[in-house]
Amino acid sequence: MSILGAHMSIAGGYFRAVEAAASEGCDCVQIFTKNNNQWRAKPLVNEDIERFSETLTRLGITHPISHDSYLINLASPEAILWKKSVDALVVELDRASRLQIPYVVAHPGAYTSSSEAAGIKQIARGIDEVHRQTKKLSAEILLETTAGQGSNLGWQFEQLGAILEKVKNPDIVGICFDTCHVFAAGYAMEAEKEYRATMQKLDRAVGLKKVLAFHLNDSKTPLGSRVDRHENIGKGHLGLAPFRHLVNDRRFKKIPMYLETPKGPRGNSTWDKANLRALRKLIER
Ligand SMILES: [Zn+2]
Ligand SMILES: [Zn+2]
Repeated sequence: MSILGAHMSIAGGYFRAVEAAASEGCDCVQIFTKNNNQWRAKPLVNEDIERFSETLTRLGITHPISHDSYLINLASPEAILWKKSVDALVVELDRASRLQIPYVVAHPGAYTSSSEAAGIKQIARGIDEVHRQTKKLSAEILLETTAGQGSNLGWQFEQLGAILEKVKNPDIVGICFDTCHVFAAGYAMEAEKEYRATMQKLDRAVGLKKVLAFHLNDSKTPLGSRVDRHENIGKGHLGLAPFRHLVNDRRFKKIPMYLETPKGPRGNSTWDKANLRALRKLIER
């Protein structure tokens, strides 16, 4: 059985995200531990932590995961932004660790005015510096596969492989596989043969054991578009077939999968339930 859940808003407290996850029928939940469009973070207080953990246990929601701020860019050639990004990722890992969240999903970064090679070097250097500052923390980084918009890195599996190769301690860095991004990056997954070939490429570049989370999103844009626009499951260019392959792939049975699909008119509620139902219907017994 797959472990299926969704990204939920923390408006009103971390425990609210867990409540929303439970009411939508999730097994697991993804959150931002701070406002994802700001550098600043409100201090984390013990009451928040306790209430979050108590709600997870009480409602049976497992595998909490966090996603880092969209402002962080470890690939930046600008020293100030790079340093700011390192510091912010340290804060993300600190907050996740205190909330007993094991993994923080992070976008590798965009090289902007430099080059792919320079960007990859900056990212590896950034991760090393984050690791140096977070030795005592439990949370680890998962680099997310990207759609490759603009100068964003991580859309080719080999780029992720190159980053892991350069990092001093690659054992504590994993991968988060986003179906929409991988598809937009040009990897086909519809026919079983295509799905298997894509997974084989990932295996060669980083190793499938590195995949510790999935983002399950359909795509509003076609294969190879390099444009990142999430769509509800089965309603976009991916269709249902890739999700059927994925939820029935025994290798990923214990890996949590989170929706980041549109939420519908009233914020947290409504559409997640339908997307989860669509995914569960694909599971073959
Ligand atoms: Zn994602
Ligand atoms: Zn995306």
